[in-house]
Amino acid sequence: MTKSEREQYAKLARYGCILCRQKEVRNLEDSPVEMHHIRRHGGLRKNCPVIPLCAYHHRLGNSSIHQLGHKGFAKYWNLSEEDLLEKLNDLLQETS
Ligand SMILES: [Zn+2]
Ligand SMILES: [Zn+2]
Repeated sequence: MTKSEREQYAKLARYGCILCRQKEVRNLEDSPVEMHHIRRHGGLRKNCPVIPLCAYHHRLGNSSIHQLGHKGFAKYWNLSEEDLLEKLNDLLQETS
């Protein structure tokens, strides 16, 4: 991981899990986040946008992105990875 990536991740982590934030399901301060890479078709991992998700919504829970997959996740939450990325960008703009 490069220095700029680390800095970006640290910045994003401050917003907490972007899905918890939308659903208000948990206390944001209590959920340490992991970075989920949104894989674009044919894109390189290092160029993928990332969204902060708690471990539960990222890969552990039955309703997590890595358990449900791209389509299943969007259907379950009624929010796709791209929707969450958009919400994150809105937040970044509001606070910068
Ligand atoms: Zn979450
Ligand atoms: Zn992931």
